Formats: sequence, structure tokens, C-alpha cells
Amino acid sequence: MQNILRHIPKADKLLNSLKSEISSGLNLALAKRLIAEFLEGYRQDLLQGGEILDLATCAQTIAKEYYKITQKSLKPLVNATGIVVHTNLGRSVFSPAILQEILPLLTRYNNLEYNQEKGNRSERYVHLKGLFKALLGAEDVLVVNNNAAAVFLIFNTFAKGKEVVVSRGELIEIGGSFRIPRVMEDSGAILREVGTTNKTHLKDYQEALNENTAMLFKAHKSNYAMSGFVKEVEFGEIVELAKARNLVDYYDLGSGYFGLSGFENILQKFEPALEEITRLNPSLVSFSGDKLLGGAQAGIIFGKKALIDKLKKNQLLRMLRVDKFTIAALEATLNAYLTGKTDKIPTCQMLLKTKEELRNEAQSLAAQIPPLFVPEVVATKSYSGGGAMPSHYLESFGVALEAKNLAHFGLNEQRLEEYLRGFDIIARLENGALILDMRTLLEGDMQRIVEAFVALEQSKIK
Ligand SMILES: *Cc1c(COP(=O)(O)O)cnc(C)c1O
Repeated sequence: MQNILRHIPKADKLLNSLKSEISSGLNLALAKRLIAEFLEGYRQDLLQGGEILDLATCAQTIAKEYYKITQKSLKPLVNATGIVVHTNLGRSVFSPAILQEILPLLTRYNNLEYNQEKGNRSERYVHLKGLFKALLGAEDVLVVNNNAAAVFLIFNTFAKGKEVVVSRGELIEIGGSFRIPRVMEDSGAILREVGTTNKTHLKDYQEALNENTAMLFKAHKSNYAMSGFVKEVEFGEIVELAKARNLVDYYDLGSGYFGLSGFENILQKFEPALEEITRLNPSLVSFSGDKLLGGAQAGIIFGKKALIDKLKKNQLLRMLRVDKFTIAALEATLNAYLTGKTDKIPTCQMLLKTKEELRNEAQSLAAQIPPLFVPEVVATKSYSGGGAMPSHYLESFGVALEAKNLAHFGLNEQRLEEYLRGFDIIARLENGALILDMRTLLEGDMQRIVEAFVALEQSKIK
């Protein structure tokens, strides 16, 4: 019995072979721990009649575990779902060109909170103020960690212990368990629901006002839509009412966007752009930095200077504040909008792709996938995502692989979807087919998809 244990290698011998297995930058502490764990397991194994392993096999087993632990978990994926702002897949794709531009700001010291002229302390938000004035004529701007934080900060600052009037049709829940009634409660504000689920009129807001009312609030419905016998009050009317009664009006836009040329027929037909909202002269508006804007995660608040000043005095801001990554990313992104260089912003580019471009890309992909799979070019529906236009799609093109053509590979569309997922390609299933939508493909993605199909064909032919 004890005899068999003499096959257990010495720890330092194992360490030496591990060092030759893993050439650069071996984490010694981790390696030693893995060796100890391995030896303990191996000992148990041998005592139970397990197989005797040679030194190299032992080292390789430990190396495998070492690589599993030291490998990075986040990795790039191919988004072939056609959903442009896909929260599970990292939301907006950040611009490689803008990343290059801001690199020196992130890797060197900078004037984040420094007034170079006066040689004293300044505020990080000043870098964005001029941009918002130029783009929207907004008096002032403030940026926090995300739009959920913006909503919370605004309620907490202006409506703690006071009433916020909201339509029952806008008491939304969006992904990641963000519920308006709950956020309001946690912020200290008192929810005053008005209207009914399907219909809210201006007089519902008027009748709800009392001496404890602080704010009139509107929320973008984001991930749901109502149709049929419905009525909601336009934000412009809410702004007018708030002004007349000396209250704060606030619109949580969710996904705000600038009205680029080409958006008239896709986005602006359904939802107002930031420019149109600003024309209503609102008190406060907030939106996400990484939805349709195509920048970095942030909650962007703009509006009246006196109100923004009050937000800045709230202690909570210190907890919700953003770092230089976010400020640099947003400054450069907004500058691209201001100077008409939105071809640098992938989200804008994807939304603006024409049907002709998309059809050409689909044809090119279909021609490269091995013909045995019978790839077909099909018209598809892609979505802006991020809560914008939940019930409207963007006409797109893609490549479909139908279940009936996969059978001779021993596959169906679900199995193919799983296989592609293993290849870092996320596709979508629709009516017995796997669809690869062209709208959300980036440079190099098509090549990756072709490689996956070629490898699959070869593995099936063997
Ligand atoms: C997305 C969204 C939010 C939350 O924004 P985050 O930037 O994800 O925190 C809040 N309100 C609405 C209406 C939204 O669509």
C-alpha cells in the first residue's frame, strides 16, 4: 500500500517541470498552491487504486489548471444578433479611434480637476460643459456613474420627503431590476401616480398638485410599448405645467441621441432627438452614455444651471462620480458629434448602414460559407436596443441557415447556435433557422464566422 505512494513526485521537481511548461511570468505562490492541491488529490487517487502518472503528465495537468485560472474572463465576441446596443454584450461598442485619441489622457497626468490658468483646483465636469452648450444650448451638465444613478440623485436632491407626479403608464421596470417606484422610494421621494395604465391626461397631473409636490416626472417607456386605446401627456405640456406652478420637470430619456442626418427615417420618426427635447426648455433631462450615444457608461444630466448646482451640492454625488476614463471618453465622443466626425462612432455607423450595404455584406458572407450548409441571404429585422424604439425595427439583411439543410451534418439550428457560441459568435434563432444579422458585424467578424463554418464542415467530413 505505502509502496504505491513512492510514485508521488516531489513538489520541487514538479515545480521545475512546471517552470519549463509555463515559460513567462509564473506566479510562484499560485503554482505552489496548485501543486500541493494536485499532490493531495493524486495521493488519494493512488490509494484508491488510481493510475500512476509520469512527471510530465502531472506537470501538464497542473499547467492546465494554472492556465484556466490565469486566463482573462472578459473576451471579445461577434455580435450577429442585429441588436446594436446589446446590454449583455457590453452595450455600445467603444470607438477605436476615440480610444487612441484619449490614450495620453489615461496614461499620463492631466487637468481633470486642475485650472491650469489659475494654478488651482477645478471641477471635472467643466470639460463637458462647453460641449453641451454648443450642441444643445444647455446651461449646464453633470455626469454620474450611470443613468440609474442620475435618476436616484435627482429624486433625492429635489424630492426627498416630497411628491413626484408620474403617469401610471410610465412606472417602468427595466433590465437589472431597476424599477421606478422602488428607486423613488429608496431616494426618499414620494410617488404620486396619476392617470391609468393606458391613459393619462394633463388634467390628471394638474389635479394631483398640492403644496408638497416637488417634481413632474416623465420616464421613457424603454422596453415596452402600448397600443390601442392609449394617451400619454407630451413632455412639452409637462414642462409648461411645471413652469406655471414653479415646479421642477424632469425627463428620464433612457437612451438619448443626437439627430444625425440619416436618423430622420429610422429613429426620429418614432422618438425625439436630444435637440428636440432641448427646444422644450426643460428643467432637467438625463440619459445613458453607452446607449444610442455610443460613448462610455455614464448618466448624463443636463438642464438649468441653478438645478445642476443643487445636484452638485448633494453628498451623494461624491459616491456616484465618474473617473477620468469616463470624462475623457465622453468629451471625445461629444466632440466627434460637434465636429461632424460621427463616422468614428461604431453605434452611429451601425444604425446608419443602408439596406444596400447590408445586402452586399450578406451576399459576401453567404458566398464564403461552405455551400453544403446552404446559406441564404434573407431580409431581417434588427433593433437599436438599449430601450430605444422597443416596437420598431430597422430593416436589415442577414444570412439564414435552415434546420432542414443542417440535418445531414447531424445538426439542427439550436446545435449550430451552440457551436457558434463556442466559437465566440452570438447568433439568433428564428422560425427554425439560425440568423446571422449583418448590421452589428465589425471588421474581421465575417472572417471569424467563415472560419467557424469551415472548421465545422471539416470536423463533420472527417
Ligand atoms: C436604460 C435606462 C435607465 C438606466 O440607465 P443605465 O445607464 O443603464 O443606468 C433608466 N431609465 C430608462 C428609461 C432607461 O431606458
